[in-house]
Amino acid sequence: MALLALPGPVFSQGSQRIPARINRCAADTRLKAHFAKDENFRRRFLSGREAFRNKVEKVVRERASRAAADRPSADRLSGAAIYSIPVVFHIVLQNPASVSDATIMAQLDTLNKCFAGENDQRNVLAGFKSRLASTNFSFCLAQRGPDGLPATGIVRKTTNIAQYESGTNDMKDPSKGGSAAWDTDQYLNIWITNLSNGILGFSSFPDDGDPDNQGVVVDPDAMPGSTNPQYNEGKTLVHECGHFFNLIHIWGDEDGCSGSDDVADTPNQGAATYGFRVGVVTDGCTTTAPGIMYQNFLDYTDDVDLLGFTSGQVARMELALTQYRLSLTQSQGCAPVNLVPLDGELYSFVGYSKRICTPSIALQVQLRNRGTQTITAAVIRYKTEEEEWTTADFTGSIPSLGSVVVSLPAIPALQGIHPVYVELVSVNGVTDDGDPANNFLTSTVQYYPALTTGFTESFEDLLFPPVAWDTLNPDGRVGWERFVGAGKTGFASVRMHNFEYDRPGAVDWLRPPQLDLSSGIDSAFLSFQVAAATYTDPVVSGNNWDTLEVVVSTDCGATYTSLYKKWGATLVTVAGGRQADFVPAPGEWRKDSVDLTPYAGKGQILVAFKHTAGFENNVYLDDIQLREVRVFPNLKAKGMLVYPNPTHGLTQVQFYPQPTGLKALLLFNAQGALVSRISVASGTASNTYSFDLSRFSAGVYLLKAVFDDRVEVRKVVKQ
Ligand SMILES: [Zn+2]
Repeated sequence: MALLALPGPVFSQGSQRIPARINRCAADTRLKAHFAKDENFRRRFLSGREAFRNKVEKVVRERASRAAADRPSADRLSGAAIYSIPVVFHIVLQNPASVSDATIMAQLDTLNKCFAGENDQRNVLAGFKSRLASTNFSFCLAQRGPDGLPATGIVRKTTNIAQYESGTNDMKDPSKGGSAAWDTDQYLNIWITNLSNGILGFSSFPDDGDPDNQGVVVDPDAMPGSTNPQYNEGKTLVHECGHFFNLIHIWGDEDGCSGSDDVADTPNQGAATYGFRVGVVTDGCTTTAPGIMYQNFLDYTDDVDLLGFTSGQVARMELALTQYRLSLTQSQGCAPVNLVPLDGELYSFVGYSKRICTPSIALQVQLRNRGTQTITAAVIRYKTEEEEWTTADFTGSIPSLGSVVVSLPAIPALQGIHPVYVELVSVNGVTDDGDPANNFLTSTVQYYPALTTGFTESFEDLLFPPVAWDTLNPDGRVGWERFVGAGKTGFASVRMHNFEYDRPGAVDWLRPPQLDLSSGIDSAFLSFQVAAATYTDPVVSGNNWDTLEVVVSTDCGATYTSLYKKWGATLVTVAGGRQADFVPAPGEWRKDSVDLTPYAGKGQILVAFKHTAGFENNVYLDDIQLREVRVFPNLKAKGMLVYPNPTHGLTQVQFYPQPTGLKALLLFNAQGALVSRISVASGTASNTYSFDLSRFSAGVYLLKAVFDDRVEVRKVVKQ
């Protein structure tokens, strides 16, 4: 590592060793980079942080009053309970074996001791001793993976990347040589990898808009026993886990006395402390003993100096755990997998799609062997709703902890939304295997035949999604919802509540019924009303915007083609950014349309509204209309038709296809006098024109369509 060679200022006050300046932690610089890119995110994150600080202060006050009343568990949110947090280490290095299991165990031990206050605290300054506190967090190495199978909690990934940039999440991305996170709601993910620019580590913060990349990254040079004498006790991970549970650097990330770590019992401190210090150290913000708390894990001092968290920090971390990361404590990640002799498991559906476009349910299931004995035969039965069971036999060989995908012969689908049930009846001829609880899978299937005529949907009915529609909300957070209180027509519409959707890049779908364009359709159109606002002024460049797309599929949603895509300035229906939760006024809608004519004759199509989140402001849709146009066979044959004919008054002149070179339509009476005229400007010809003959006398008229190169004549009879 080059970090010891980096030049930098030296320190003298209280210092016994003169260190080179390194960049110990990039957690706050990453956050600031995110702020710079996304002003909306910055405001909301900081207001969330303020609300969180207020909650912590309330908790601290309550604890103080409990302590004053000498009540038990005064210093803990959870009383005596231990919060157990499953941990997985991803060693992403060119030689991942260079970080041994023993090093990882030593690191985990340091982490646990420091969070429990069981590290060596003999050198804590007398003036700080009473402020230190311990958490009841316990970090355990995962015993099972996200798939429920036995695991060591250590993933070694050989990469060809020598160093990763701390500004990226590349070490978490398999396509960049990284190792993918295990479910971040179930595991604390820790990546050990070489970081560039002398950075020793960084962490995500709770609710920082990046749910898939939650976790901590540490350079191997900051692991216990490394050759780096200043940072080889494993305290970097302790520091980063502090950030993971919402702690801010003790100096408040601003040089000067104005910044705060939002913790009341840490002294005000102007800047990070570097190197090794002893005794009372003061600065311009805290000028008297006991001085700045350079022994706090959230400072940058050498590992040997980092000794404790304060009560205020502990309260903050415990509240962060219960408010943002409670699922970690409910995870089964540290429960060992105990295998019984014979246990088949229906683990999951494979390639499952809730919505199908033909009345046939073809299920595939993953059958897993969670016993120690090989499975050679299995009987599976399945059905939809109240229909009869269908049975399928599997024969083969599934070793212990192995699995196979079993394709079940198709059964007919009922119209509507219905449950499907799959049950493992027996394995190896035994009906009661070791764990009957994992012998079932259930789900639902939605089938409606494609519509053969168009429709309009205004979302006025309570039922949402409307019959034969569906929504897809893969992240289970904000999705397409019916909204009462604004609509182009009526009082309701649908919307994406982006104002509350801090998940940039998340995709949500709203899908109308399929439309059958197989025969006799000459053209088809989708139109809809849209109302949209941004939070950031849409003139800002480089921002991450909410994006609306219209896509179409000819294979029931397996693949899509994009026909319409708008975001930012092209999507909004109001000017400027709106910093309040946007609800459109009646004049703030726009009608957009998409030509589906290229799909005429292509069979069933599935149109979908695809929304990609940008954490801006709300997008509304209303009056969604799918319309198909069928041309009279007669018109098709003749190219020009007058209808109705005879007429009592109104009659239409229709052209097919769209006329080119049409200059005028002239109506003459039987005496040859021109009685009506429609002029057509170049390039503006329409498919249809109307004449009103109601004030003319009965008799025969002649309609002449004058083109650049010809004139076509039709007789029109007025009755
Ligand atoms: Zn830090």
